[in-house]
Amino acid sequence: MRIPVIAGNWKMHKTVKEALSFLSTLRSEPLPGNVETVICAPYPSLPALVEAAEGSGIGIGAQNLHWAEEGAYTGEVSARMLTDIGVRYVIIGHSERRTYFAETDESVNRKGKTALKHGLVPILCVGESLEERESGKTKHVVREQVVRALDGLASEEVKGLIVAYEPVWAIGTGRASTAEDAGEVIGFIRRTVADLYDQQVAGEVRILYGGSVKPGNIGAFLAEADIDGALVGGASLDPESFRQLVAAA
Ligand code: PEP
Repeated sequence: MRIPVIAGNWKMHKTVKEALSFLSTLRSEPLPGNVETVICAPYPSLPALVEAAEGSGIGIGAQNLHWAEEGAYTGEVSARMLTDIGVRYVIIGHSERRTYFAETDESVNRKGKTALKHGLVPILCVGESLEERESGKTKHVVREQVVRALDGLASEEVKGLIVAYEPVWAIGTGRASTAEDAGEVIGFIRRTVADLYDQQVAGEVRILYGGSVKPGNIGAFLAEADIDGALVGGASLDPESFRQLVAAA
């Protein structure tokens, strides 16, 4: 039985004050206990959010990390700095980082390894561009990204991570994938994990859909057998809509 995950990706939104106000509204009513609820916030809000989320079951995540233990990497943040303040998850390879910050499959792989070594749960993002989809390359592209992201990882490590399938053309556009298409690609990702490891690993790894998920469409995605939850950008910024997403899971 895979526990569903609803993870919010706030991107570059919310000051510390705004983040705390969100959390206090979210905590004003109990959240369902059978859903892993995660908020991935900008670095400055992380310590305050970890403290404010204590005892709520809400996990706090970062949106990036550096693969090195420490060193001369101006502007970067290490895994140890994140675990030190109680962060438990980290998004790796989001398409915005691949597009605007030259994130590659190789850096995704290195960051994933570092995150796992430090006990952080990586949320590894994969997904095709519109051009790739329109030229029929979706499965090829996604398979390559998954193979490269997981390169060198042990079965036990893969079981503990989360994959997010996020077609680039669906992120922040209001144009979500159909649930059937997302279910098919996510089923394909699961079979890829089975090819690389075995059925047991493939049966345990959680795979989320991301891309214009909202309270109105999340039900259809969750009804797909292989989809274990959602990574949500825009609709995670409002506590009431985020609560509805968690309640749907
Ligand atoms: C995301 O940022 O990962 C995302 C899926 O964004 P949105 O829900 O806004 O499409």
